[in-house]
Amino acid sequence: MNVNEAKKLVMNGLDLHEINSGVYSGEWIAAEGRKTIESICPINGQALGSVTQGEDQDYEKVVAAAEKAYKEWSALPAPRRGEIVGEIGAELLKNKELLGMLITLEVGKTVSEGAGEIQEAIDIANFAVGLSRQLYGLTIASERPEHRLMEQWHPLGVIGVITSFNFPAAVWAWNALIAAVVGNITVWKPSSSALLTAVAVSRIANRVVERNGLPPIFLLACGSGRTIGDHLVNDKRVPLISFTGSTGVGRSVAEQTSARFGRSILELGGNNCAIVTAEADIDLALKGVAFGAMATAGQRCTSTRRVLIHRSIYDDFVKKLKDVYCRVNIGSPLDPSVIVGPLVDKNAVDNFTATIRQSEKQGGHVIQGGKVMKMNGCFVSPAMIEISKQKGIVLEETFAPILFIMKYDTMEEAVQIHNAVPQGLSSAIFSTDMRETEYFISHAGSDCGIVNVNTSTAGAEIGGAFGGEKETGGGRESGSDAWKYYARRQTVTVNYGNDIPLSQGVVFPV
Ligand code: NAD
Repeated sequence: MNVNEAKKLVMNGLDLHEINSGVYSGEWIAAEGRKTIESICPINGQALGSVTQGEDQDYEKVVAAAEKAYKEWSALPAPRRGEIVGEIGAELLKNKELLGMLITLEVGKTVSEGAGEIQEAIDIANFAVGLSRQLYGLTIASERPEHRLMEQWHPLGVIGVITSFNFPAAVWAWNALIAAVVGNITVWKPSSSALLTAVAVSRIANRVVERNGLPPIFLLACGSGRTIGDHLVNDKRVPLISFTGSTGVGRSVAEQTSARFGRSILELGGNNCAIVTAEADIDLALKGVAFGAMATAGQRCTSTRRVLIHRSIYDDFVKKLKDVYCRVNIGSPLDPSVIVGPLVDKNAVDNFTATIRQSEKQGGHVIQGGKVMKMNGCFVSPAMIEISKQKGIVLEETFAPILFIMKYDTMEEAVQIHNAVPQGLSSAIFSTDMRETEYFISHAGSDCGIVNVNTSTAGAEIGGAFGGEKETGGGRESGSDAWKYYARRQTVTVNYGNDIPLSQGVVFPV
């Protein structure tokens, strides 16, 4: 399939016109008089369609609609909210192939990864349906006679969801669908590099809400980070900002949100490392490292960016990994034999080249790839770079397929190097020795939010809480009890006696 054939499939199935409104406030705000952004296909550099950008007055309309909708939506029983989210999951399933293809066209994921991302959104919808009947609070033994002490969880209100380009549908689903069953309304500001996907997903979700006669609970406000993003971050009517993106932008989002005593969930950059020990199953480790470093062309927050290999197997492992890199097919992600598609845009290609140049200046030695491909679109050959010391550019996240390779002698040294970066998202160890793997997942081991044993740093499931430590921001989203981030906890004391006994034995004889 070529880009034009794929585009037809998406256009027919999703009714995407040349100019799409990028603002939904219960109705799609007309395009007239609004600036538009073209969505550029990274496979061939051509425009796919354009989306209008929200302006100040549109933002006000969206937030006013969200505040109004909150009253009605939050009053619905949570299991009824779950039913609506379940219907959205079913609609996503019906449109899985088309939406996946749109992701392929818009951000360059392989067809399998595009469809996988929509499956992730469906999975979280299913999870949210179950959750809607499990928003449990605790009952606590009171120290006072004839008293009841308990905790309950209420929705927060209007939640701002600002997303990155690389998971243009799943990150919205993680946030919006969980927030919805808790009783909240979300206002989504998607990345300007993936606007068509945002419009398509929002249309599907809102059609479900509309046919159920409910107020708009999934609002959309496309626009730049500096306008719509900035409005959301500084808006006191928005008690929680869930931000997914780079550490630099996330830092400023966190500062601004906390300055107004708002809350934030921060899902920021990673600098993920895999350790391959002398006891590793080598074939398994090769697959895990190759997938982690090259899937989605290194544009996952969980992509493997560093690998530490035990000295005794270093030469052999590096040679085998190099062979895997040489065999990898790079090209249009619409071709099923391709496993490395394009970077998202020219800017990403420039960052890739700049990082390689800088690492060479800092003593790195490129042993494979690292070239910009002579093809239309944003294609590069994944790079393997040997380094003797972890410093400079290696401490930063470059959102591209660059793998820094180092050797180590002892597990203690490996863990020390592993943890000596500012970020703390995902980590992996490849070993068949239980002492090594248990050490790595113990408190003295990996300092990341996600730790993997004999599987890749990339490819998390929705059932666990997702997020990382240090400059990755500390947020948690998706499964487990991450729903509590979208709720306010209320401690309730009920006195059903005839007196007011005081806690801690305090006496107040009035
Ligand atoms: P980015 O930081 O450039 O943009 C993220 C979002 O922030 C976009 O919607 C952008 O428009 C918006 N934005 C920009 N300036 C803003 C401002 N001043 N105020 C408010 N919003 C603003 O990130 P990106 O290039 O789209 O995505 C890649 C980054 O995201 C990587 O660092 C990656 O690691 C990270 N990421 C992290 C996770 C995670 O869960 N930890 C998941 C996916 C991506």
